[in-house]
Amino acid sequence: MTQNIADCRKDFPALQQNISGRSLVYLDTAASAQQPAAVIDAVAQYQRENHANVHRGVHTLSHRATELYEGARDKLRAFINASNRTEIIFTSGTTEAINLVAQSYCRPILGAGDQILITWLEHHSNIVPWQLVCEQTGAELIVAPINDDGEVGLDELYALMSDRVKMLAIGHVSNALGTVNPVRRIVERARQHDIPVLVDGAQGMPHMAVDVQGLGCDFYAFSGHKMYGPTGTGVLWGREALLEDMPPYQGGGDMILEVSFDNTVYNELPYKFEAGTPNIAGVIGLGAAVDYLQSLGMEKISAHEKHLHDYMVNKLESVDGVRLIGTADEKASVQSFMLDDIHPHDLGTILDNQGVAIRTGHHCAMPVMQRFGLTGTARASLGLYNNTDDIDCLVVALEKAREIFA
Ligand code: PLP
Repeated sequence: MTQNIADCRKDFPALQQNISGRSLVYLDTAASAQQPAAVIDAVAQYQRENHANVHRGVHTLSHRATELYEGARDKLRAFINASNRTEIIFTSGTTEAINLVAQSYCRPILGAGDQILITWLEHHSNIVPWQLVCEQTGAELIVAPINDDGEVGLDELYALMSDRVKMLAIGHVSNALGTVNPVRRIVERARQHDIPVLVDGAQGMPHMAVDVQGLGCDFYAFSGHKMYGPTGTGVLWGREALLEDMPPYQGGGDMILEVSFDNTVYNELPYKFEAGTPNIAGVIGLGAAVDYLQSLGMEKISAHEKHLHDYMVNKLESVDGVRLIGTADEKASVQSFMLDDIHPHDLGTILDNQGVAIRTGHHCAMPVMQRFGLTGTARASLGLYNNTDDIDCLVVALEKAREIFA
């Protein structure tokens, strides 16, 4: 395992292959990041040597599995600076974490006249769970607009804050446009109205050091596979006092202390929210991903990606026919664009034929697309393993696409 970002590409087995006869250029990290060998090996080693169910066993393998699983919780606590390991709830991803908060925190307290506040920048995972809970309770979903650069209008957002708002749910970084929201400032403002804040950190965690206490929010949700860990893993961080008061989200094994037909006593945090056998292997892999990110250093990763992002934007602007979508001042690692009137899916296929992997479509953010009068965009997104050669290849591939469509 390398300690140097410039050399870290070799840590990623999937990046050592040719696609369409060329060295793979992977520019789709916002959809899912490739995993370093350290993560793949941690999962494989657990499966080969240590697999058993966690928490309940007295035998050696169960102890080992429990230690590894709970060890990952400790790593995640430290990584996001949570004050207590009880605040780290393992979920299947950001989506489940947000649904958990919508159903367990919001549903019991919402009624007609109450509001949930989100923004136009959100991923569907930070829209639909709130629509569902609004349907269930009679509450109303209200949405703060974005401007032509893809930035949330702060004055408009603040104007929507009132004592009717029972939750503000906002992305840290937009997956469609790469806009970084000024979350700390927004949370401070929400505090003045006693509005709890959930941050969708799916695209924040991979790209910057996250300190949940520093941000001041109440809940922070993220996915393992966006931060170089396995799919089917994620975390809901929540303030202990809030989590304590919330009812369980799902019932089943492990989330109870005692069960009888008359009365069931729920387990303590965090287990109250982890019903059933968890994704043990995945969580252990997520712990290894945290080790990997820490060995490189989140500050160094951010600086590397910022340099690359600026390089990518400059290069894309130099390609005739490219229109950038999402031009906020504060951006992280994602750039959406259109090339002439080429359909993004056609463009994605032509790029794939040249070994360049980008994402095309609505990026699970249809309202963002509607805001720009589009059905979809092409999106290049960066990870810590990318370099300027990757971006040069993207540009060559785009120029080739223009020739093909000329
Ligand atoms: N929120 C954002 C900003 C995302 O980018 C994504 C995934 O693309 C999600 C939420 C949902 O994450 P998952 O599918 O891992 O639950």
